[in-house]
Amino acid sequence: MAMARRRNVADGRPAIRPEGAPQAVRLRVTALGKGSAIPCAPCLDPNRLWGSACGFIYEDMSTILHVDMDAFFASVEIRDHPEHEGKPVIVGGRADARGVVAAANYIARTFGIHSAMPVSTALRLCPAAVLLPPRLDRYSEVSHQIRAIFERFTPVVEPLSLDEAFLDVSGSLALFGSAQTIGHKIKTMIRNELGMTASIGIAPNKLLAKIASDLEKPDGFVVVPADGIQAFLDPLPVSRIWGVGRVAERKLKGIAIHSIEDLRKTTMKQLEPLFGQKTGRHLLACAQGVDSRPVIPDREAKSISHERTFPQDVDQEDVLYGTLLGLTEQVMRRLRNADKLARCIELKLRFADFSTITRSRHLAAPTDVTSEIWHVLQQLMQQHWNGQPVRLAGMGVSELQHPKARQADLFLEKKHVHQQKVDRVEDEVRERFGKQAIHRGSASATSSAKPNLHDS
Ligand SMILES: [Mg+2]
Repeated sequence: MAMARRRNVADGRPAIRPEGAPQAVRLRVTALGKGSAIPCAPCLDPNRLWGSACGFIYEDMSTILHVDMDAFFASVEIRDHPEHEGKPVIVGGRADARGVVAAANYIARTFGIHSAMPVSTALRLCPAAVLLPPRLDRYSEVSHQIRAIFERFTPVVEPLSLDEAFLDVSGSLALFGSAQTIGHKIKTMIRNELGMTASIGIAPNKLLAKIASDLEKPDGFVVVPADGIQAFLDPLPVSRIWGVGRVAERKLKGIAIHSIEDLRKTTMKQLEPLFGQKTGRHLLACAQGVDSRPVIPDREAKSISHERTFPQDVDQEDVLYGTLLGLTEQVMRRLRNADKLARCIELKLRFADFSTITRSRHLAAPTDVTSEIWHVLQQLMQQHWNGQPVRLAGMGVSELQHPKARQADLFLEKKHVHQQKVDRVEDEVRERFGKQAIHRGSASATSSAKPNLHDS
């Protein structure tokens, strides 16, 4: 099988990646760090990494799955409370406390109810709806069961939230059959063992798999063949592209771009004034179905970091701290998704003259609590930033370890568990409603560990 695929490449079948795009292999090595390589079984090359890292297989086949549970919170509630079966069900906060809908089952959605809508509005649209409070612990438990099903087929699982993940099965084909066969098996197991449905998209890359899983929800199953990418993408509206929100959609409509085909046929000349060079290029690549990001199993990461380059150098304290807080939240969300704790925190600053400093600090005990890490990062800032203009700010965590390795301290434990719950609620809300849906006020996070949750 592997040999046949080698031949395909030697035959010179068109590569999906355009010239000059980054190599999946290189990305993967950076992400995993040295020493964590899983030898690539399918191409029989011990120097390559498993699955998507293996360039030619990745380019050539539809072996990336995006699995997304249908109305996850609501489905878990209905499974646990069968008396609500067949009724409109909403999971969300209390109407009199300005709660929002965290999830609605498909029956509730027929009344026009959707995520992020105020619960009071939802109940006005459908007074008969069953309103249940969210139980994040329970959803997290079921999420682990789902993940265990994924891991029967591949170790390369990258979770995006409690209810969706990318799977790279290119290393599993010899054992389990085609990606489609694996997809069907996963759906069946989720239905039989957990009593819920999932929608699956299968494609040569993450971008396409994610679009595909969403197209026929609920209980969807959409395959994008490697030679049918254009036909798949062209008729779709631009809003289907990951990251194209209402604002970008409006800008594109302004230059008569409605479908992905319109976008594909446009030029950088048209896009650059509206979106800048980087985003413009990204949009064009998306319209061509190009995405070379590998599936990164978070569990193997040695470190997790994010950084941001500012369009203009920044010396305002609130902007800088606000940015670092946002980066910290992203990093911590990935850390928790990976089921890891971190011991080391690093601050990175690049100044106007391009000189760069990195400063790190070790914690007495590893943690996955955002407020604890943020507290230390602020101390690093206070020590090492003297007000000079900054062009890039970044933060990262390393020395990751499994939660079991953490020493138990009963008093700390209680506070820690509370903070963990707060973090998980935030992760989930942000996953559903976007990054802006919820954020900690810098001021409140500075003075205490208490995050400031609010709707937007
Ligand atoms: Mg979902």
